[in-house]
Amino acid sequence: MAKINSNYQKLQAGYLFPEIGRRVRAFAAENPTAKILRLGIGDVVLPLPEPIISALKTAADEMSQKESFKGYGPEQGYDFLLQAVAAHYQSQGANVEADEVFISDGSKCDTANIQEIFATDNIIAVTDPVYPVYVDTNVMAGRTGAAENLGRYGKLVYLPTTAENGFDPPLPEGKVDIVYLCSPNNPTGAVMPRSSLEKWVRYAQANEAVILFDAAYEAFIREPGQVHSIYEIEGARDVAIEFRSLSKTAGFTGIRCAYTVVPKSLKAHNDKGELVAVHGLWLRRQTTKFNGVSYPIQKAAEAVFSPEGKKAVEDNIAYYMENARIIREGLAAAGFTVYGGVNAPYIWLKVPGGLTSWDFFDKLLREANVVGTPGAGFGSCGEGYFRLSAFGFRENVEEAVRRIKEV
Ligand SMILES: *Cc1c(COP(=O)(O)O)cnc(C)c1O
Repeated sequence: MAKINSNYQKLQAGYLFPEIGRRVRAFAAENPTAKILRLGIGDVVLPLPEPIISALKTAADEMSQKESFKGYGPEQGYDFLLQAVAAHYQSQGANVEADEVFISDGSKCDTANIQEIFATDNIIAVTDPVYPVYVDTNVMAGRTGAAENLGRYGKLVYLPTTAENGFDPPLPEGKVDIVYLCSPNNPTGAVMPRSSLEKWVRYAQANEAVILFDAAYEAFIREPGQVHSIYEIEGARDVAIEFRSLSKTAGFTGIRCAYTVVPKSLKAHNDKGELVAVHGLWLRRQTTKFNGVSYPIQKAAEAVFSPEGKKAVEDNIAYYMENARIIREGLAAAGFTVYGGVNAPYIWLKVPGGLTSWDFFDKLLREANVVGTPGAGFGSCGEGYFRLSAFGFRENVEEAVRRIKEV
C-alpha cells in the first residue's frame, strides 16, 4: 500500500492567507457596497517598467526566428544574467562570482528547496515571527516534531524578535546547525544592523553552522550604511547562502525570477565528518530537478541591472517607500506604536487596547474596511502585532490611513 509522507500531517491547518481570504470574502458577501482596501498580502501593484518589458518583448521575438530561437538553457541561468548579478554584488561591496549565482523562478522555491541538500538531523533555528515557508518546508522534510502549544513545532529552535530586543534576532542559547535570517524582515520591517550580522557570522564560524540569508527586500533599504548583502560581512562567504528575488524589487511576482548565491568556499560535514563544498550539491540539485528560467524572463531580469532598468526600478521602490512613510507617520500621529517601514515595505504595528491580532484584523475589516495581516499568523511572538504592506496605490494607502485613524 502506498504511504503518504506523514510529515505533511504535522502541518497546521488554516494557513494564514487562505484564512484572511475567507474572512474578507465573508465580510464582502454581507457588505456588498463596502469598498475594501487591501494592505494585507505583500504583492506589488505597479506594472513592469518600460526597459524591462521592452527586453522581454525583444526576447520573445527572438524565439520566433530560427536564427535566434533557443531551447533548453543552462539550468543555473544564462551567463549574461549571472554576470549582471555578480557585477551588481560587486557594486554593493560584496564579493560574489558569476558561477556562484543560481537563477531561479523564485526565492520562495529556493528558500523552500535549499533544506534538502542538508541532513534531516540538523537543528534548525528560525525567528519568531517568521516567513512561514522556512518552517513548513522543514516540517515536510521531517526535521521537526509535532506542532505543540503556541503552534510551535518540536525540535525547531525559535528566536523571539520583539520590540524588547529591537526585532533583532538573538543568538540561540545552545548550538544550532542551520539558521534562517531575513533582513530587511518580512513581517517586522526591521533591518539587521551590521554589528548583529557580524555577531551571527562569528556564531556560524564558531559552531560550523550555516546561515540561510533571505535578502528579498534589500533593494528597499533607504538608510545609507545598512547591510544589503551578508557577503559584506567578513567571513560570510564561508558560512552563508543568500537569496534574492526580483519579485518585490522589480515587480516580477507575476513573471518570476530570483537568484541564490552559494559561495564555493561554503563547506559542511558529510556523515563521515569530512568537509564537503555545498555549492556542488546545490548545482546537482538544480541540474537534476530544475530546467531553468525561460530565456525571455532572464532577458527581462538582465534589464533590471541596466542603467535605465535600475532607474525605473528605483522609481517604483521609492513610490512604495513613500507609501510606507505615509502609513508609518500617519499611524504614529494617530497614537499607534509603529515599527518598520523605513528600510522595508512593511509596517509592523502594536495592536492597541490589548486585542489579539485576529481581533484587530476583524475590527479593522468591519470598521475601516481595511485588510491587514495579523501578526499571530507569522508565529506566537507576532501575537499583539499587525502587518500593513506598503504595496498599494497611493490613493488607497492614503484612504486606508484616514480610515484607520478613525477607528
Ligand atoms: C516575497 C518574499 C520572497 C520572494 O518570493 P518569490 O518566490 O521570489 O516571489 C522571499 N522571501 C520573503 C521573506 C518574501 O516576503
